[in-house]
Amino acid sequence: MAELILKTLTKLYTQAQSPAVDQLNLSVRDGEFIALLGPSGCGKSTTLRMVAGLESVTSGEIRIGNKLVNDLHPKDRGVGLAFENYALYPPLKVRDNLAFNLRAHGLGAKEINRRVDEIARTLQIQELLDLKPAALSSGQKQRVNMARAMVRRPSVLLLDEPLSHLDARLRVELRTEIKRLHAEQRFTTIIVTHDQLEAMALADRIAVMNEGVLQQFDTPLEVFNHPANEFVAGFLGEPPMNIFRSVVADAGRLVIPGTDFALPITPAVQKLVGSRKELKLGIRPWGIRVSQTQTGGSVPGVVTVVEDLGDETRVGVRYGEVLIMASIPVTRRYRPGLPVFLQFNEEDLNLFDPTTGERLSDGSYPPTPVTNQAGHNNEVQAPVPR
Ligand code: ADP
Ligand code: MG
Repeated sequence: MAELILKTLTKLYTQAQSPAVDQLNLSVRDGEFIALLGPSGCGKSTTLRMVAGLESVTSGEIRIGNKLVNDLHPKDRGVGLAFENYALYPPLKVRDNLAFNLRAHGLGAKEINRRVDEIARTLQIQELLDLKPAALSSGQKQRVNMARAMVRRPSVLLLDEPLSHLDARLRVELRTEIKRLHAEQRFTTIIVTHDQLEAMALADRIAVMNEGVLQQFDTPLEVFNHPANEFVAGFLGEPPMNIFRSVVADAGRLVIPGTDFALPITPAVQKLVGSRKELKLGIRPWGIRVSQTQTGGSVPGVVTVVEDLGDETRVGVRYGEVLIMASIPVTRRYRPGLPVFLQFNEEDLNLFDPTTGERLSDGSYPPTPVTNQAGHNNEVQAPVPR
């Protein structure tokens, strides 16, 4: 195991207009579990392939355990790799698929058997050892694939969307398994995923990428609660954060044009807003209270869509041109066409610069939200209609 450091790592494919990976700085601690998260094509796999040595580096440095590995052959880097396509050797039994790389490294038969048996026990694939890949289910193949990456006891374990071909139930099962394995084995691990839930569930820290550029690198809760910019805010969270254009109106108010929403600009907010006349205002769906009675500061709207998801109810509310998604505890109270009132929790508000998309922050505003996806605090108090 080792720490991994990427320093201004850049990859420009020939004939590409812009770098696939652009000046990426990333410091992964020894034993840490990192997720590279971002939309398809943002440079996640390219980053991983450069670390593995399967792709050349245009510029920058890759250090594993403080050793520059830019020019090392993949097999000399001490990395273990598992891709979404299992790439197991069809003619070989599982046992020999696992032993293959160990033999290539010149380990003796006894040691190889010991290690194969050990990793098979860990990944619970003992009964598969004498089968060939064609006889395995996709979940079993993925377990073998990961066992093969781990059996060499790599300094750094690299997983590229290892779960994305599995059905939902298996995906969650294997995700839990990966987390347990990491807690046990403490491999320095990077998982590439476009699935925010997977990243949130697994990683100590998440590196969010977009168009080859690192957007934010922090703990799941920090990335979620304090997104560095509008991109991160919109990428994490389901349903996504509501983001509105808002303008600074006279009388010290921030208003969403076309609605009655007005946020009084307190001195703390004013400090962030500065001389800006326009802002982007973001609020998570569960930072919105929905009610049938008007309270101070709530704004009217009309329900346009209701989604009963069993563990939450999502209510889409239209106000003029603006559609606002709220996520509330399960209720049958609402139906399309019903007039309602919305109240935004101030601690759930996010302000972004309208041009750069950067979050406006001085570290104290907004206060750390007490709400999150799991713990709604937007209880509905309105009486149930007859
Ligand atoms: P991700 O894994 O995040 O989906 P990739 O790292 O695979 O993204 O790709 C990043 C960008 O680099 C994309 O625009 C992709 O088209 C481009 N790219 C990837 N591999 C190659 C290649 N071998 N040659 C040219 N362009 C590539
Ligand atoms: Mg990829």
